[in-house]
Amino acid sequence: MSEARISIMQVPFDTLTRSQIIESIFALLDSDTQHHIATPNPEMILAAQNDPEFLALLQLTTLNTPDGIGIVWAASAEHDPIWKSVLKLALLPVKKPRTPLPERVTGVDLFLDICHHASQTSKKIFLLGAQPGVAEKTKQVLETLYPQIQIVGTHSGSPSPFEEEKIKDLINDVSPDILFVAYGAPAQEKWIARNLRKMPTVKVAIGVGGTFDFVSGQIRRAPLLLQKTGLEWLYRLYKEPTRWKRIANATVVFPWRFLTSK
Ligand code: UDP
Repeated sequence: MSEARISIMQVPFDTLTRSQIIESIFALLDSDTQHHIATPNPEMILAAQNDPEFLALLQLTTLNTPDGIGIVWAASAEHDPIWKSVLKLALLPVKKPRTPLPERVTGVDLFLDICHHASQTSKKIFLLGAQPGVAEKTKQVLETLYPQIQIVGTHSGSPSPFEEEKIKDLINDVSPDILFVAYGAPAQEKWIARNLRKMPTVKVAIGVGGTFDFVSGQIRRAPLLLQKTGLEWLYRLYKEPTRWKRIANATVVFPWRFLTSK
């Protein structure tokens, strides 16, 4: 989408700041075409290496934003020798890397930015996914934050192909402009790729992982200091120790695979 795209292990990223991303998304909303936007994190990049369908899909999205400090680091280390890349990795918590990717843009931040702008521009939103009741609670929180917001529907459902027809009808009945899908990666991205064309009013669809869980208050986000120093994963490990394998993938396996693939 942006002129300058960079690739991390074959997954493209747009070299845009958070505010430029929002500007681009709102331009897309006024276009005649439909757009899939993804927020790949290190785990998704790893998954894509063993899943050609997922990789191809991430290469076809209109816009990809880096959801993870590991990706910002990888972008800055892309052309460095190994020793320099490792040094940059070690310095991450204290030194923001100079990188073609201006900043990390998490799914939660992007979600809130889009909701805020949508509330000012009368764009209609549908929230799909998460456990029963979570999308509805997310809607209530958003209505408190942004009183003008138009959330025209919520549905928990499942990413199973058997439910697609029903979900597609639910969405088409209320004609949203923006669709957020919270089924976790890669199910949500595959769901969007299979169904976007069947929902013609949806101009922008984005997979948002556990975002509804955070916004609805089901799960608390890390303190700002940890977010800013790239250590949000540490807080997540403390809060949800059962995620250790996923966190190890992001913090150990991804850097290792990236360094050895250069
Ligand atoms: N989820 C769902 N149906 C499924 C699998 C997952 O609604 O069949 C939801 C789950 O409740 C959670 C989100 O998908 O809200 C995925 O969260 P996860 O923590 O895996 O995503 P991440 O933020 O780590 O990408």
